[in-house]
Amino acid sequence: MAARRDEAPVLVLANRLPFTIQRTRDGLERKPSAGGLVSALEPVLRQRGGDWIGWPGIALKEREKIPRNGGEPYGVQAVPLTDTEANRYYHGFSNRTLWPLFHSLPARAVFDARDWAAYDAVNERFAQVAAPAARDAGLVWVHDYHLMRTPGFLRLRVPDAHIAFFLHIPFPPWDIFRLLPWSREMLLGILSCDLVGFHVEGYAQNFLDCVEKRLGDRVDRTAGLVDHGGRVVRVGSFPLGIDFELFEKRALEASEGRVGREGERMVLGVDRLDYTKGIPERIRAFERLLERHPQHRGVVVLLQLAVPSRSQVADYRDLKREIDELVGRVNGRFATATWSPIRYLYRSVTPERLAAMYREADVALVTPLRDGMNLVAKEYVACQVGDPGVLILSELAGAAATMREAIQVNPYDIDETADAIHRALTMDESERRSRVASMRVREERDNVYSWVSQFLEEADLENAQLRPLTDDEIGGWLEPFLKKYHLSVFLDYDGTLTPLVDHPSKATLSSEVRDRLEALVARDDTDVAIVSGRALEDVRAMVGIDGITFAGNHGLEVAAPDLPHFRHEDVDHYEGRIVELGKALQEVCSDGAWVELKGHTLTWHYRPVKGDATQLVARAREIVLESGFQARDAHLAVEARPPIGWDKGRAVLHVLRSRHGPSWTENVRVIYIGDDETDEDAFRILAGMAATFRVGPADTISLAGRRLPDASAVAAILRWLAGRKRPS
Ligand code: UDP
Repeated sequence: MAARRDEAPVLVLANRLPFTIQRTRDGLERKPSAGGLVSALEPVLRQRGGDWIGWPGIALKEREKIPRNGGEPYGVQAVPLTDTEANRYYHGFSNRTLWPLFHSLPARAVFDARDWAAYDAVNERFAQVAAPAARDAGLVWVHDYHLMRTPGFLRLRVPDAHIAFFLHIPFPPWDIFRLLPWSREMLLGILSCDLVGFHVEGYAQNFLDCVEKRLGDRVDRTAGLVDHGGRVVRVGSFPLGIDFELFEKRALEASEGRVGREGERMVLGVDRLDYTKGIPERIRAFERLLERHPQHRGVVVLLQLAVPSRSQVADYRDLKREIDELVGRVNGRFATATWSPIRYLYRSVTPERLAAMYREADVALVTPLRDGMNLVAKEYVACQVGDPGVLILSELAGAAATMREAIQVNPYDIDETADAIHRALTMDESERRSRVASMRVREERDNVYSWVSQFLEEADLENAQLRPLTDDEIGGWLEPFLKKYHLSVFLDYDGTLTPLVDHPSKATLSSEVRDRLEALVARDDTDVAIVSGRALEDVRAMVGIDGITFAGNHGLEVAAPDLPHFRHEDVDHYEGRIVELGKALQEVCSDGAWVELKGHTLTWHYRPVKGDATQLVARAREIVLESGFQARDAHLAVEARPPIGWDKGRAVLHVLRSRHGPSWTENVRVIYIGDDETDEDAFRILAGMAATFRVGPADTISLAGRRLPDASAVAAILRWLAGRKRPS
């Protein structure tokens, strides 16, 4: 019997392995990672089994293996990277592009196509390494911004895999996200998951917004669902917590008076040295405090711990210099013989020392310019086991969504932050106690272990369904666009008006769609055209409704009730040659593959071929190109068309101009719905001048404004269009 999904092994994919590797004189050595995430995930891996897949962090030499001395009760698979790959994927695209952009600091983001290519390739390598184990895993859990393309590559290799993604940094608003030249590809990557998680609801809503605006997917903001070409993706918020008890225990064990000096009051900052943390702004706010409230001079000290980080990136080196200078300036301005206002440590400290600092600090100044969550704020609260201190928290940190009892500030507002420090230093004990107490209760309950179990619980759920497409929703899309204009509707046939079937002759119209098309044609404010890859007579016979305009052979021939018959002038030249091509293609008509001759074009169908058809398809394309025709991929088919620069898009413009004149955009609104690559020509040519819809799986990139899951959604739109009221 197959294992239940929630008991089957878990694969964790993260940029780094759950330990760090160092090269010493005796070879490679492992050092355990102390992070909360590793300790929270390890029990799950231990219980359900599974692997942790990550980059070892250093370039391995040939035949060098990760030492097996960790004793983890789960597998560890290293994804090795060369120095160049690490440079472009990690220091480059991850940390110089995604990190600043996702933290809403776009001016710092570098857009380099070579970094992107390396990121994409490394993400694919992660999927390659994960694929064999993913087949039997209950869940593949992909972490963070380094691996946003991996789910897409994994879905291609293991279509049934159950994949979830969690982003540990913010997800930016649309106006920032859209700056990324590869925004479509990034969204397609994560939408290959079944569940996508963020720290806070605001990021989840930003993501849904970007998905709707960039891809045109249907989203349900309230339920947190995306209809991604018929596959429904859940989107939710899961605020990360800490190992509360561990921090509390360390704080209780810390002997008092270790950190500060007798009689001194301490304001504490703890950060990686990163420009998102707002360290210069914080120092300026502290300087402002000393200017405005001189009573704190000689008594209060800002202890700023800055843990070295990403020093390969130039911005980080510049920041270090800026902070050094600022600290020097403020100390130079206010220091006395016995007191210096800022104590600045550029290093990391032991967990025990950190807990002691947290415990002793009168005020924690946690003022990032933007932060996915910020764990320092939570750790500080967990360590308030004695006389409680005050947390000042940036409203731009994810933690601010839940830590409402902190004094919240805008970190860019130096005066406000200075006043907040003053208020914190003068707050009476009962207020301090009640503020900290309720935060402690919440952080103890919502710790990192409950975060893991909540995420897994949600990931193990069966896939959700989006509510059916309603008339209100369609009206919301189309009413403001159509207004009082005349409407021209262009529809592809196969896969748009009918579901895709195994042979073209079986793709008949349902009576429901036929009725709606008839009702639509009967309206005097609407005309309808069907634009197909089929031969003109074929599609006309399949539909059989008078009053419709038909464009066959991808628009090479057009027949309309009110227009002269159109046939592209160059097609005759190719007529004989297409028959020759049909004969040449017999070479690849094995295993049931067959050729459909359509007059000016032809389609080689390989749907009946069982097994891998890659070689056959490559040869078919070769034959088409050798014969001087264009080859286009279609649904399990290759289409050959004369190379005469004519396509569905041009045919649509021809119909619109012939019927409504060259200034047709003044009087007519256009809707185009199609499901095929050949419809992309129409989406491109109509961009900005029509409402466009691409039907079918959303894993391909489309220029259409919106995506629809299947032909039934098209039927719903036709029903709405046929029944719509005329605006008065
Ligand atoms: N930290 C550390 N060593 C130190 C100081 C801090 O490991 O010397 C830890 C701190 O306990 C916290 C983490 O670094 O868990 C910082 O996490 P946060 O979410 O605040 O910011 P991030 O660095 O992830 O952006």
